[in-house]
Amino acid sequence: MVMDVNINKSSITAGTFSFGIMNSIEHWPNERVMGYDAIIIDAVDPEFIRKKVFKLRGHHNQDIFLKPIFLLKSSGKLDPVLNELIDGVLFSLEQIDLIVGRVQEIFLKSNDILAIKSTSFEAEIINKVINFMTSRDKKKLAPIPYIHSGIGYFIPEISVNFGINDEHNVLRIMQIAEDEGLFTSTFSERVYLCTNCNGGYLNYREVCPKCSSSHANTEDMIHHFTCAYVGPISDFQNTIDDDLNCPKCNKTLRHIGVDYDKPSVLHTCQNCNHRYQDYHVKAKCLSCHFENPVENLISKEIRNYVITRKGISVAYNGFISTSKDFDEIPGTVKYDVFKIMLRYEIERLRQNDYTSNIGFVHISNAGEIYSRIGVDRQKSLISEMIEILRQNLRSADFISFYDASTLVLSMNEIPNKIANKILNEIANLTTVLLKRNFKSIDIEIKTNAVSLETQISHELQLQNLMKSVDRTPTNNNPENPPKSID
Ligand SMILES: [Zn+2]
Ligand SMILES: [Zn+2]
Ligand SMILES: [Zn+2]
Repeated sequence: MVMDVNINKSSITAGTFSFGIMNSIEHWPNERVMGYDAIIIDAVDPEFIRKKVFKLRGHHNQDIFLKPIFLLKSSGKLDPVLNELIDGVLFSLEQIDLIVGRVQEIFLKSNDILAIKSTSFEAEIINKVINFMTSRDKKKLAPIPYIHSGIGYFIPEISVNFGINDEHNVLRIMQIAEDEGLFTSTFSERVYLCTNCNGGYLNYREVCPKCSSSHANTEDMIHHFTCAYVGPISDFQNTIDDDLNCPKCNKTLRHIGVDYDKPSVLHTCQNCNHRYQDYHVKAKCLSCHFENPVENLISKEIRNYVITRKGISVAYNGFISTSKDFDEIPGTVKYDVFKIMLRYEIERLRQNDYTSNIGFVHISNAGEIYSRIGVDRQKSLISEMIEILRQNLRSADFISFYDASTLVLSMNEIPNKIANKILNEIANLTTVLLKRNFKSIDIEIKTNAVSLETQISHELQLQNLMKSVDRTPTNNNPENPPKSID
């Protein structure tokens, strides 16, 4: 393949792609990085390379963290963590046409990835990791023992998002991702972390049970068979020769195993002079200096992860929230609980002669709205929305989050027409609330309520209801609400 190659000091173009050449002399602000299709790091200092790669891959902007990165280097063994985070190595700029295909591949895969703002930090990190994996066609995440890791093991694609003091969050977030069905995992190793700061750099040592000092002298205990005296070897020693003489009977000891033995050792604390045979083991945290009794250390499993099909779909659909994010919103029940309550309601309907309904309130552009505000404000906005709902529903009605954009409601013992009227009213009030907070955004709210059937399972009725979300028109005019369906 013949390609146009154009080199100047800080950039190079090859094919249709522009490569920024980052060195340790010039400053590279984010805008400059975004101006190129790919980045080549031209440096020999491993610390500089590591810092640059971590900064790019740990960035929150998708245009930066998905950027193809190559290293320009002549020799040397590549850090295994960096190896997972870069897209290739060049030995000279003349080889540039060899990496154009790789950049092309990454661009094609990245095109389909949806950039979305998640409602929680956890969901955002999960989104980010999966988007990076998808753009590189990676299916696995493997922990690597790493000297620069705060917990001793580094899963490059996720750990790069954390400072050394926050890295324990990697294990917590991967657990959430697994609970959500996005990854499966297998055991790799066990680590022990500081109870005070979750750090993994621990100095284990034997300490005095009285004062916890590790400064001790240890000597053999001697048991003289002849007179039954037991004492530390220093009691038997003298300053003149190497002979051992019993302080009790004055006899010279002859052969170990014949007239004496060494049943144990004795420690003498050099700090408090306490003499002891059984020491304690403590792990001093090198990050926060806390003395951890080893039996209290936080034991954590380091695991290998494989992405599931559901996980891969996150890259194309976005992962707005984990199911935990909405668990603690007052006035709502967990989705699992909602389903159980719905099943009971269907049972009740079989014995009675009234109508109950299930419905939804769906904000079509919730992602856009959430991305305008921080996580704390999202929670307070959601709480306000739930309050509006609660004021318009009766206490026997229950609400749950189906996902970050959709609430499901059960509206019991009222005709369907009334249920839809109430939902319209809720949509109008919610629109007013959101308009007040987001003047420049069009609010797109959809609602619908259907009567509960006694012949169809609650699961299927919920599925049908959720499928109908896309077919439902937007209720976006508070002054002139759409007519309810008769
Ligand atoms: Zn600590
Ligand atoms: Zn002591
Ligand atoms: Zn003796």
